[in-house]
Amino acid sequence: MSTSNLNPHIALLPSAGMGHLTPFIRLIPLLTSHNVKITVITPHPTLSISESESLSELFTSFPQVTRKQLHLPLPPLDDEPSSKSQDPFYNRFEVIRRSSHLLSPLLSSLTPPLSALITDMSLASTVIPITNSLQLPNYIFFTSSAKMLSLFLSFHALDDPKAKDFIEISGFEPIPKSWIPPPLLDDANNAMKIYFTECGKKMKESSGILVNTYESIEGESLKAFNSLPPVIAIGPLPPIKFERNQSLAWLDDQPAESVLYVSFGSRTAISREQIKALADGLVKSGKRFLWVVKDKKVDRDDETELVDLIGEELMERVKEKGMVVKNWLNQEEVLSHPAVGWFLSHCGWNSLTEAIWHGVPMLLWPQHGDQKINADLVERIGVGMWVKSWGWGDSVVVVKGDEIADTVREMTGNELFRLRAAQVQDDARKAFGEGGSSYDRLNDLIDSWKCSP
Ligand code: UDP
Ligand code: UDP
Repeated sequence: MSTSNLNPHIALLPSAGMGHLTPFIRLIPLLTSHNVKITVITPHPTLSISESESLSELFTSFPQVTRKQLHLPLPPLDDEPSSKSQDPFYNRFEVIRRSSHLLSPLLSSLTPPLSALITDMSLASTVIPITNSLQLPNYIFFTSSAKMLSLFLSFHALDDPKAKDFIEISGFEPIPKSWIPPPLLDDANNAMKIYFTECGKKMKESSGILVNTYESIEGESLKAFNSLPPVIAIGPLPPIKFERNQSLAWLDDQPAESVLYVSFGSRTAISREQIKALADGLVKSGKRFLWVVKDKKVDRDDETELVDLIGEELMERVKEKGMVVKNWLNQEEVLSHPAVGWFLSHCGWNSLTEAIWHGVPMLLWPQHGDQKINADLVERIGVGMWVKSWGWGDSVVVVKGDEIADTVREMTGNELFRLRAAQVQDDARKAFGEGGSSYDRLNDLIDSWKCSP
């Protein structure tokens, strides 16, 4: 006989990096507004300062949310250099994965007893055995697109993906090999390949897979997942407005929809040569721009002065029409600012869904990971332009300033992108609004927790 539990208790376990933390944070007000009690388990210490600050804001703004820290043994991975990645965030995934055994006592000690755990996809293979032994439902939050999820779930079973030009996944459109994250095609093992392969396989044992996407953008992919566990599209999750003292004074002085916002996300550094060429291109485009420069993947290592990166002469030219910063800007506030007209993006899934949410058309410049697969989705719905010859961010070829300038002018001169972005924004907000597809899925999920014994 089933009983009801009007105040289910759900624990959230995010992984490393803002792109993995932010969607978890965005779930919180949606759950608390339905009387769900929340505990957030935070791997400690965080790799980046931005994660640490974001968590502080979260716990200040939501005092009813319980915080539990998962203390990580550092320094990481010295024992097995062969499994290390060039990317400190993938290495941190691996450290958190190896600390999963610490979860069992933590999860069992929470009161009232948990109804379910929601775990980041990068931790699925090490956390599912623990929740299985505790008989605790475990939902995996996949923080990228549904199309990327199809690759994640199938990759472990693919027969020599390097040997083919297209990756065939039953039910889905083939994916060109050139869009597959390069570490997955390496012969050597690396932290990304390990988590991708092991978690993709194990995730099939989860209670459900949550994805920050929605039907009108990825309906075809969502329909193609036809075996268990259920794939539950709950996005695009709306940004949360924390109290901030961010000064956007420069933007406030610019005309409406006149500024190109340029950012490569929270964890992507571009080469110094490419930084100079991009500066040159932005200046030559003649457009106004707001550019967040990143020289290092991890923010706490990013210490070089802007002028030393760009050079004094170019810096003077940049200042004529542009604003360049090296600090963290709250992107959701930037994208919602009336002066922002376009977004040059590295195609992180959060960045793309935020731009869609705010109706901002995009120039797509995927750098690594899932970003080419994401770029294709945005290009298809007519909201962005992708110059495929620019390649991955760490390719040896530097895209020249003149080419960047021409592309920026072409993209910003095409009003069709803006018209389409307004329509897509409307669809996205409908999906998440009352009666929308994602709204219904999330409510059904919460109701299922309330009906569980
Ligand atoms: N972000 C931000 N300010 C910055 C850089 C990034 O607010 O200067 C936020 C951005 O809005 C997004 C997240 O950090 O929510 C980055 O996630 P995404 O998936 O776009 O890319 P990643 O950083 O994981 O590559
Ligand atoms: N940190 C920092 N600047 C901040 C917040 C944190 O440099 O604004 C550093 C902090 O010194 C620590 C790491 O980030 O080494 C982890 O921060 P967390 O908040 O997880 O730990 P705490 O500061 O609470 O000990």
